[in-house]
Amino acid sequence: MDRCIDLLRDLVAINSVNPTLVPGAAGERAIAERIAVDMRRSGLDVSIDLVAPDRPNVVGVLEGRAPGRTLMFCGHTDTVGVAGMTDPFAPVERDGRLYGRGAQDMKGGVAAMMTAAADVASRGGLAKGRLIVAAVVDEEHSSIGADALVTRWRADAAVVTEPTDLAIAVGHKGFAWVRVDVEGRAAHGSRPAEGQDAILRLGRVLARLEALDASLQTRPPHQLLGTGSLHASLIEGGRELSSYPDHARLQMERRTLPGEPGSTALAEVQQILDALAREDPSFRATATAMFARPAYEVPADHELPQTLTAALAHVGGRPRITGASFWTDAAVLGHAGIPSILFGPGGAGLHSVEEYVNVEEVLMCRDALIELAKRYC
Ligand SMILES: [Zn+2]
Repeated sequence: MDRCIDLLRDLVAINSVNPTLVPGAAGERAIAERIAVDMRRSGLDVSIDLVAPDRPNVVGVLEGRAPGRTLMFCGHTDTVGVAGMTDPFAPVERDGRLYGRGAQDMKGGVAAMMTAAADVASRGGLAKGRLIVAAVVDEEHSSIGADALVTRWRADAAVVTEPTDLAIAVGHKGFAWVRVDVEGRAAHGSRPAEGQDAILRLGRVLARLEALDASLQTRPPHQLLGTGSLHASLIEGGRELSSYPDHARLQMERRTLPGEPGSTALAEVQQILDALAREDPSFRATATAMFARPAYEVPADHELPQTLTAALAHVGGRPRITGASFWTDAAVLGHAGIPSILFGPGGAGLHSVEEYVNVEEVLMCRDALIELAKRYC
């Protein structure tokens, strides 16, 4: 059995469900200990950076024999929950696939980056430069691991080994969450002259948002990422059948493109509320920014994707440049000044009840990372 796949099986067998996402879940402590043991055995200098109680990042460093550039491999150790899965932590290999929670997202990528570093170390190490392997917590919730990582560690470039089907993803969208509170006036359901229906008034906002979404999706698309979009995620309001609702609340998400700041969504919603208040002075509503993470992109002609393209071709892969739709830690690294790309093995079932990673792609990912480290550092 290949050492990389052995490690992958071990990682899948360790419950590392994100405890912020799923209250009471195991968290990243046990998997971090396993990773630290493996990195030390591989000859890396290991640091354990406690990000929150029981939630450690593990960072392994391989120093080259001469000064040079620093390349970082980064992956998250947490997974989403396991509701509905029969045996989430029992790795099963079948037809070239390895099944289990986190197999694809992203223990396959973590095993690939760790064994790539181990391979470089075992073959005499790096001639120059420095390789950093970072296993971080909490990507599936709010990326406190990556946020902490960039305050303590620097690199000239990074590869985040999220699953991309071995495509080289040079960017991804961002997102922003906005809350809209619409005020009405409570009254007995039989007294329309006294009541103001907050839910129907929120309907006016929804109609404008639907039009905004349509217009976002007809704008000229980003070459790799398409267009921005929005959706109404959560809605609540009303108290009982026979009363006018005095309050209604919408929580919505706007997906953003590179160049659109996180404040874009709030500004767009505020514009809609201002227009509705001009049309009807009794319309009262507020918009509040909840959370945002910006989109991110490295220029496609940047040296890093170019070098990885050559490295992947060298080990027999078929390189292609793409963009990812989902948000990742690459944006945290990128906005901290570390040019970052995504590159990881393929599979299916991300966040669903049957998740697997393609074993051959885990190995090819590892081989390409070994080659990249030699060429880049
Ligand atoms: Zn992931």
